[in-house]
Amino acid sequence: AARSIQEDPDLLQCFTTKEQVVAKWENRESNPIIHGVKVVYPISTARGLVGFLVVKGSDLAQRDRDMVQGFLRIYHNYLQLIDANERDVLTGLLNRKTFIDRMMAILAAQRALPRDTGAEVPMSQRCCLAILDIDHFKRVNDNFGHLQGDEVLIRFARQMTQTFREVDQLFRYGGEEFVVLLKGVDLETGLTVLERFRKNLETMSIPQVGHVTASIGVVEIVNQELPTTVVEQADKALYYAKEHGRNQVI
Ligand code: GH3
Ligand code: MG
Ligand code: MG
Repeated sequence: AARSIQEDPDLLQCFTTKEQVVAKWENRESNPIIHGVKVVYPISTARGLVGFLVVKGSDLAQRDRDMVQGFLRIYHNYLQLIDANERDVLTGLLNRKTFIDRMMAILAAQRALPRDTGAEVPMSQRCCLAILDIDHFKRVNDNFGHLQGDEVLIRFARQMTQTFREVDQLFRYGGEEFVVLLKGVDLETGLTVLERFRKNLETMSIPQVGHVTASIGVVEIVNQELPTTVVEQADKALYYAKEHGRNQVI
């Protein structure tokens, strides 16, 4: 999405203004060249702008535009239903139920790979799971109140969204526990990426609260039988991090 915004000034304008953009359009592949219009509609959810609908034509009558608006209203409702089902209300990250579904899919995909060929699992199929737990979060609630605690959770989630890539899947796993599924990444790279997040978080200043840190346990997903097995292994690493001074990736 970021690339298409950079390449298309109409998408950029729509992205900036969050309003529909009407522009001239010409189809150079047709003979003779057709001159028409292009309308870019923003597609937004509670998480913000998630996409565009681009309609091009030699002419777009009011009747056609009304029909597109009607379609967009239905599509917005559809997106809202999916979000309500898959996402956590406070942070907008994927919820725990979605986590189990996605984990099942990853393990099934790994089982489907040819085995015993001696060949290494291709990097694109490798995947890491990390559990991130905010350190001494109870103190945040105790010292600043539950509302400020919620604010920390929201900022923590935003920092995750900014640090990790679009392909990585981010979940709120429980109260102040989060999960990241890193796609196409082996354990070594996973450790590097998570260490970068840990550092970013440490330096981030939250109004009134100040700084928070997190402990992180990470494992590579390699043919474990069950999602719970993967989570248990990551949990063990997390526990070790907590026991050995917190604010670290294990
Ligand atoms: P540790 O470093 O060992 O992880 O300590 P901790 O205080 O973070 O861990 P603990 O599990 O004892 O406390 C987690 C706290 O998170 C307890 C609970 O009140 C709080 N919490 C859980 N969910 C929410 C929430 O949605 N909002 C707020 N504000 N607090 C929450
Ligand atoms: Mg916890
Ligand atoms: Mg904690």
